Order: sequence, then C-alpha cells, then structure tokens
Amino acid sequence: MNNEAVIKEIKKLKKELPVTIVAHFYQRDSVYNLADITGDSLELAQKASKDPNPYLIFCGVGFMGQSVKILDPQKRVFMPRLACCSMARMMEVEGFHQSVQKLKEAAINTEDFLPITYINSTAEVKAEVAKLGGLVCTSSNAKEIIKEALKQEKKILFVPDRCLGQNIANEMGLRSAVITEDILSIQQADIICFDGFCSVHQLFTPEDVDFYKEKFSDILVAVHPECDPKVVAKADFVGSTSQIIKWVKAQPIEQKIAVGTEFNLVNRLREKNTFVLSSTKPECPTMNETEPQHILDVLVSIKNKTYLNEMFVDEETSKWAKVALVRMLER
Ligand code: SF4
Repeated sequence: MNNEAVIKEIKKLKKELPVTIVAHFYQRDSVYNLADITGDSLELAQKASKDPNPYLIFCGVGFMGQSVKILDPQKRVFMPRLACCSMARMMEVEGFHQSVQKLKEAAINTEDFLPITYINSTAEVKAEVAKLGGLVCTSSNAKEIIKEALKQEKKILFVPDRCLGQNIANEMGLRSAVITEDILSIQQADIICFDGFCSVHQLFTPEDVDFYKEKFSDILVAVHPECDPKVVAKADFVGSTSQIIKWVKAQPIEQKIAVGTEFNLVNRLREKNTFVLSSTKPECPTMNETEPQHILDVLVSIKNKTYLNEMFVDEETSKWAKVALVRMLER
C-alpha cells in the first residue's frame, strides 16, 4: 500500500473506532499531521489522560505512553513503535539506588534531600522517586518545581538529565554537582544531578551558536534546556519545546532565529526566518521510528481485537509512579 492509501485507510478506521491519535512535537510530519492531539510531554500527559476515547494511539516514546496509562489505567494505550528515549534508558532503578547510596556516603541522608525526576524517565524510576517523597517535572515546569522544593531547605537529587539540572541551577544562582563528582563537591551542591543526557540535544555546541552569531549579527538563538550549559550560556532564549514555539511565533517575521532542538519541530517553524542550530540534522532516532503504516497496523489490530503494542505498567509501579506524577500536576 502506498503512503496515500495508508493515510486514507487510517482516516477511514478513525471514523469507525473510538480512537484518539496523539503525537509529540518531535514526530515526523507524516505522523504529526494525523494526530488529534499534539504537544510536548506535559501537554500530552495532561490532555491525553482526559481524552474521552477508550483507545489511545500514542506516537512518541515509551515513558510518554506509560505516563498516560499510569494517570488513567482504564484507558488502553498503544504505541505504534515500542520506541524508548535514550535518556530514560540511561537510568534504571539500580542507578537511582546507587545515587542515593552515594549521597549517604556524603552524609546526605534521605531526610536531607528531595528527589525530582524529569518526566523522561521510566515508570520504575518515577515510583522510586515517589517513595522518597519526590515528584516529576518537565522542562516546562522544572524551574518552578525546584524553586518550591528548595523551600523545604533540602538538597535536590535531580535525575536523569544532568544538563536540565545544571542549567536550572545556573539560572537560579545555585551550586550543582554531578553524582560522579567527589564527596566534597556533592556536599557543597544545592542540586546533585545524575549523569544522563539527551543524545539529540548534545549535538548542539557553543561553536554552533558562534557560527550563527558571526553569520548574522542580528540573529537570536533559542535552545532547549537539555542542551549543554555551555550552549545555554550563549543563547538568547532557553525554554521547553512549547515555550520555544510560543517564543518563535511572537518574534517579528523578519527576525532571524536559530533554534537548538529536535529537527522535525524546528522544520515546522521554518515559515519564519528560522534555522536549525546545527550543521547536522538533529533528529531523535527513536521518535522518528514511527511511520503512518505503524499507526495503521495498530488501528487494524484494535478493529480485529488482536491489540498490537499495548502498554502495561504493573500495579505496584503504577501506583507509586502516579503519586510522583500527581504531585507535579496538582501543585
Ligand atoms: Fe529522549 Fe532526547 Fe529523543 Fe527527547 S529528543 S525523546 S530526550 S532522546
């Protein structure tokens, strides 16, 4: 079946079945354009869990589909591709426990710190964070959540993204350390970060910013806080995916802008005077796994009751991970 026929069939089955298609901003256009709901991680978790349809086809990566399933266990969530965010995979439960142990070695006990996990983490890590009184954040709300958490006069254990934790610490004038650093550095830090990172946002370099600033004297540079702090330090605007979109759209049409985030999203902003802040094509390989044919395969399986790639989270993990997510959503 050619692509046109696949899309026609998807639209036909969508009319027959109580299904909602959800797509993250980083999905390829052919998938993104089929979605009923689009957004970044926070928007998708909020909107998708409130959607009335019993079946949800989630075009994104594993932790996103898991989050919806955890927030609304009655909903049947399907992933057209069982794609996993490379950052989420960098921290298993053992990695979290090892980090807690390292803090103990620095005489920072569980009552002395609050764990916060970026939403780009497995359900199991979210559950462990909840058990220690912690919560989830996204790149949209991380700063506010950290600000509130610091009122408890505790240190923050921030997992799994090192860059997001360091960038917020820098912005707020706080001291940060990476969990792999020496005991003294950890003891002196306000925010201790796990050493995970996004393989896509790591592609942007300070030299990329210099290149565009030298090429166009009046250009503005916007980057995602998953970029390295050295890149963030040179940018004019730092924000989550949704915040970047809003900021770019608010600029005058003649304003030149270079954006340091995933390619598919930046490409959609190109009607403005917008450039991708990289000489490479910074696509998220796992986000890009999904194609329209995979959506069709799931729709056919729902129709035939064979249910391809359904997401499940075990009850105990789900119970605790929900605590961490709800603490974020209800704050
Ligand atoms: Fe994960 Fe980075 Fe891909 Fe986002 S862009 S899903 S953080 S690997």
